[in-house]
Amino acid sequence: MAETKKISLVCRECGAEYPATKRHICDECFAPLDVKYELKTQISKDIFCNREKTLWRYFELLPILDKSKIVDLGAGYTPLIKSERLAEQLGLKRLYIKNDTINPTNSFKDRPSSVAVSKALELGLDRIGCVSTGNLAAALAAHARKAGLTCYIFVPKDLEQNKIAQISVYDPEIIVIDGTYDDANRIATQVADNYGLAFANVDIRPYYVEGSKTLVLEVCEQLGWSPPDHVIVPAASGALYCATAKGLEELERLGLIPSAEVNVSIAQPCGCSPIVDAFKSNRGDILPVDNPLTVAKSLAVGMPADGVYVLRKLRDLNGMAEDVTDQEIINAIKLLAKTEGVFAEPAGGVTVAALKKFIDSGKIAPDETVVCYITGSGLKTPELVTPDIKNLKPMAPTFESLKSVIGGF
Ligand SMILES: *Cc1c(COP(=O)(O)O)cnc(C)c1O
Ligand SMILES: [Zn+2]
Repeated sequence: MAETKKISLVCRECGAEYPATKRHICDECFAPLDVKYELKTQISKDIFCNREKTLWRYFELLPILDKSKIVDLGAGYTPLIKSERLAEQLGLKRLYIKNDTINPTNSFKDRPSSVAVSKALELGLDRIGCVSTGNLAAALAAHARKAGLTCYIFVPKDLEQNKIAQISVYDPEIIVIDGTYDDANRIATQVADNYGLAFANVDIRPYYVEGSKTLVLEVCEQLGWSPPDHVIVPAASGALYCATAKGLEELERLGLIPSAEVNVSIAQPCGCSPIVDAFKSNRGDILPVDNPLTVAKSLAVGMPADGVYVLRKLRDLNGMAEDVTDQEIINAIKLLAKTEGVFAEPAGGVTVAALKKFIDSGKIAPDETVVCYITGSGLKTPELVTPDIKNLKPMAPTFESLKSVIGGF
């Protein structure tokens, strides 16, 4: 069973090593822990040919030892779409859209949730919780149901209507906090301490983020193991960004890609851009945003847990950081839909709008190969674009009245 690999947890700061149990912080220096793999078998590119078309195709690089514990709703292995029309509009020769809107609960959070719930089973837990701005809640609740685990969801009160509906249908225990995501996070930490409830994105975070890592593994595989020049990643807590960097390092170490030296940049909304602000003012620490105010609610994390590590990795990876306004986000959602046929939630608008800014300011050159992450579906946040549709008036059901509506063909 544990034949293919050995896993342990390693401190990001001091390198102390721990057995792979329910633990997320170093006893010595309180820094976060990451999963380390010791593979017993050689991995070559061709082993992936016949693998399942889900994130579990990268089993060797995921922190589960017993395959029977895997909880799989089909997350991952989403399309990497070669953009023609958006690329042309933006002035790029090679642009790819990583379309994670089509995951089982319509965001990339199905990836970390599938891994976190599988790990919870492997650790013998019978319940799991999370703090969420909406997408993680739906993804975790769905995977917990599939696994038969009780699920506790802590969310701030200003969630979008459709996200609440989507979460509710899985019928988890929902605790709505009259405050921000960071308030919910603080209370969840106390619940964890007092009741021993394991939170997917807190207590078992080292395992959870390994799911987020699979996005970049797929991007590299889908490009024939030749990494792009540049990747644009949306950032909330910064977990996806750090996981992207870790994934590239692991692929390089395994010899699956020639080099991990890919430029990876982050995008945040102006109303909540603590990491971008620190980057732009050349600080190594993060000033928390107390009251995030943005249409990109899934990115409204004022105190990003991985913020300082994103700053460090941005330097290692020659990355850039950009923030975009609500109007730029909405325009970018519409632009992506009209050029590529992909309907994104605001987080996707954030990456597309930031990409446009990087290109317009000459920071990304026209001949670079760029991948833009689209991490959630627009059907989760239709209220942002519905005013367009409300103006539509039905026509009389006669052929003649067509003219008054459309003016002619
Ligand atoms: C959670 C989330 C992100 C990024 O989250 P991190 O906390 O930075 O990993 C990006 N896009 C969407 C749609 C999300 O739900
Ligand atoms: Zn340490």
